[in-house]
Amino acid sequence: PPLGAVGEESARVRVAVRLRPKNTHDLLSDADFFDCVHLQPELNKLILKKNNWTSDSYRFDQVFTQSASQNRVYEAVAKPVVEGVLDGYNGTIMAYGQTGTGKTYTLGKLGKDDASERGIMVRALEDIISAASPSSDTIQVSYLQIYMESVQDLLAPEKVNIPIVDDPKNGQVSVPGAAVVTIQNVDHFLHVLQVGEANRHAANTKMNTESSRSHAVLMVSFQRSVTNKEENNTCFEGKDDRNVLAGGHVIPTVRKSKLLIVDLAGSERLDKSGSEGHLVEETKFINLSLSSLGKCINALAENSPHIPTRDSKLTRLLRDSFGGSARTSLIVTVGPSSRHYTETASTIMFGQRAM
Ligand code: ADP
Ligand code: MG
Repeated sequence: PPLGAVGEESARVRVAVRLRPKNTHDLLSDADFFDCVHLQPELNKLILKKNNWTSDSYRFDQVFTQSASQNRVYEAVAKPVVEGVLDGYNGTIMAYGQTGTGKTYTLGKLGKDDASERGIMVRALEDIISAASPSSDTIQVSYLQIYMESVQDLLAPEKVNIPIVDDPKNGQVSVPGAAVVTIQNVDHFLHVLQVGEANRHAANTKMNTESSRSHAVLMVSFQRSVTNKEENNTCFEGKDDRNVLAGGHVIPTVRKSKLLIVDLAGSERLDKSGSEGHLVEETKFINLSLSSLGKCINALAENSPHIPTRDSKLTRLLRDSFGGSARTSLIVTVGPSSRHYTETASTIMFGQRAM
């Protein structure tokens, strides 16, 4: 659908494609494989070449070539969502793609030695921290992993199978059993993220699995105390625990919003026939959650009044952070080589269905 009024724009999912630069593996196999992804950034167009005779072309909200900087991707894809969160609306930023195409680079890169390499998680927190007022605002994060329909805590790895709670009173989703860290500054956040990464690695080694088989979800809660006086001038939607003006006194109210940044499990089609036992189970769960995410995204794109979020833990967690007044961005990551043509084509179709 075309971009209409602001309200319409925020209801739909913004979809961008990012092409990973060639790596040595792609270059070494130059003789047998060709570049199957061609981008026309000025037209937001992607051309997928099957061979010399056959190609298909697709439009997205943005396409990012292999030379697009982390900053450009952040500004175009993530910043509008972060600004919404600062204004009191929930938001979601997700990366979807085959393992090895740059999901974690795009979202989770720490950039310790080179700040220009920082990914969306760090940049989002930088922006939220600098917009926050220490006297009235609180920034808290939880960092979770969803593996085989079990929610695990990446900041407190002893916690497994943490329940997701839907509050019927205010329609909010929360994970009250997860560790919550109040973030003071960017260095503090970098440290928290690093602890989460280390725990993710350790947990996956212990379970003998790979991080590409689980979803990582950074959950950022932003709370602002507003006095009624300010509130009258700023005019935000009243879904919060606001107080009434009692006898002319100015009573502070709390406005809460939430940002989810989701590094999805690898989208490669997992073949059940080739794997056995535990792997079959794992595969079933990944296929389940990614296909239920796909259904929700399709429903959002079609403006359907019913978003089917109940089918997986992933979509249950996302329920209050997409659709409605929430803003959602999806980054679809692809590699250049025709060796992965089939996976790349199916990744692109997933993104197209969200448009
Ligand atoms: P995924 O999380 O999708 O499995 P990664 O983010 O781990 O993929 O990326 C795979 C490799 O490619 C990593 O070494 C990463 O640093 C590199 N990479 C991915 N995207 C880019 C990019 N846009 N620029 C430079 N290196 C990238
Ligand atoms: Mg990854």
